Amino acid sequence: MENTGHTEVLIAGAGPTGLLLALWLTRLGVKARIVDPKPGPTEESRAIGVQARTMEFYDQLGLGAEALTRGRHFDAVNLWVQGRLRSQVRLRGVGDDLTPHPYLYILTQDQNETMLLEHLEKSGGAVAWRTELSGFTQDENGVSATLRRGDATETVHAAFLAGCDGARSTVRHGLSVPFTGGTQVQTFYVADVSVTGKLREGDMNLSLDDTHFSAFFPMPEPNRHRVVGQLPEGADEHVTFESVRPEVEAHGLARVGDVHWFSTYRSHHRVAERFRVGRAFLLGDAGHVHSPVGGQGMNTGLGDAANLAWKLAQALRGGDLAVLNTYETERRPFAVSLVNTTDRVFSGVVNPSALARFIRTWVVPAVLPILVRPRAVRRRMFLTVSQTRIHYPDSPLSTGQAGRVRGGDRLPWVPDGASSNYGALKSLDWQLHVYGSLTSEVQTWCAAWGLPLHVFPFSRVARRAGLTQNALYLVRPDGYVGMAVPRFEQASLDAYAERWLPKVKSGGVQAGQ
Ligand SMILES: Cc1cc2nc3c(=O)[nH]c(=O)nc-3n(C[C@H](O)[C@H](O)[C@H](O)COP(=O)(O)OP(=O)(O)OC[C@H]3O[C@@H](n4cnc5c(N)ncnc54)[C@H](O)[C@@H]3O)c2cc1C
Repeated sequence: MENTGHTEVLIAGAGPTGLLLALWLTRLGVKARIVDPKPGPTEESRAIGVQARTMEFYDQLGLGAEALTRGRHFDAVNLWVQGRLRSQVRLRGVGDDLTPHPYLYILTQDQNETMLLEHLEKSGGAVAWRTELSGFTQDENGVSATLRRGDATETVHAAFLAGCDGARSTVRHGLSVPFTGGTQVQTFYVADVSVTGKLREGDMNLSLDDTHFSAFFPMPEPNRHRVVGQLPEGADEHVTFESVRPEVEAHGLARVGDVHWFSTYRSHHRVAERFRVGRAFLLGDAGHVHSPVGGQGMNTGLGDAANLAWKLAQALRGGDLAVLNTYETERRPFAVSLVNTTDRVFSGVVNPSALARFIRTWVVPAVLPILVRPRAVRRRMFLTVSQTRIHYPDSPLSTGQAGRVRGGDRLPWVPDGASSNYGALKSLDWQLHVYGSLTSEVQTWCAAWGLPLHVFPFSRVARRAGLTQNALYLVRPDGYVGMAVPRFEQASLDAYAERWLPKVKSGGVQAGQ
């Protein structure tokens, strides 16, 4: 049986990346169709870390409070060497002024997917499960894709195709985009286990000795941990937890009770050479894969989705198609640097040479406590891991500077009692922020461009965050500053708005919220 259908954006893959893209597009009123050959969302915990920047995107969509009821925080990493606690890195407090979510947060991939799916359905969307993208063609007007469900096929015409279909992406293969990089020689295991023992409950615990490492992450359930380590050399890939139990329980650190999930995997480090070809895009693992060090993979896919959703919506509503080029310009350099960094850290952790073992078990434990003592170092670590440091200074969308805030920076978070300037981002719109007082010309300009205007008091917090009193910050729908100007400059603001702002809008002045 063959059918035909139409949609604005066809999304291949309902993992976390595809689900967030579908939800964001649906909220923006875009007709999105999302398909996945699986029967339903992932049931395995897989990715477990949700970073602060992701929580901020969830807040924009109204999911943040709910996410906080489903997972758990942790804010310390303990380093154990040969069963002795040698060092502790405490991140509590270092990001309190940076983000409403100044901690490391555990919310497993299956929990993320379930939450995103529920909200997609509440917003009127749905996933077509058991349906795969089997091929596609494109021209300057759109994409024609073949979907297969059992014996039935359907041709879908879409304006854009989003490849959120994971590391083996059909979309990436269809575009003939090379996936450059390699695969680690080591094989790893990952298990969700109930644990008692010396491990510090509620923290992350990293255990090293001459021959192996085990990393224990606290899971939302009490005494439950995710443990990750390296399979013994020569081990069969079809091993069970019993093969690694002696390592996991070495030095009396952990005694494992129930094993809820066990799996093995080889780690890859690859980035697609292009993230966009014509009307097709690559997001998430379809565009970049790397070791799970630092819990960045799922978050980077979610960040890709937040970056592309509003650009697709704007292009579909008559905006300049050039905005779509900025997806690759902004997201690919970050993916490349992430893959390189995680690869370096990972190689250091698993390198079997005598020198590397010496550094791991003697040098690192001795030096780490001194290195991480300064708050500035721990703050930089938090900024990196939380993804709140991601910015796009080289994007064509980024221009100007007012105070320390430049075009391309993430809008600084300015709390004011129980509310903050981030409340305004829930509209998922372009908007102008002024911290201080307003002139009538700014008001007139916003009205002319149909741009929502948010005025906040110029508080000490705003000053500390690097904002300038009465400056103008033109904020993108994903919470990054597009343009920053210290004072009203009609010509440059008009030029920017002409180029990048959507054409149809309704505006109005809104006092700080
Ligand atoms: C053991 C492990 C631990 C990890 N830990 C972390 C962590 O702590 N933090 C973190 O951020 N990341 C972690 N990751 C990485 C994380 O799981 C991935 O980065 C994340 O799943 C990527 O999401 P995605 O939606 O891009 O791709 P996927 O989750 O792979 O989803 C792709 C989807 O596309 C579907 N699909 C495939 N082919 C087609 C097709 N032809 N048509 C339609 N759909 C298709 C698939 O069925 C799948 O549902 C971990 C990964 C593993 C394996």
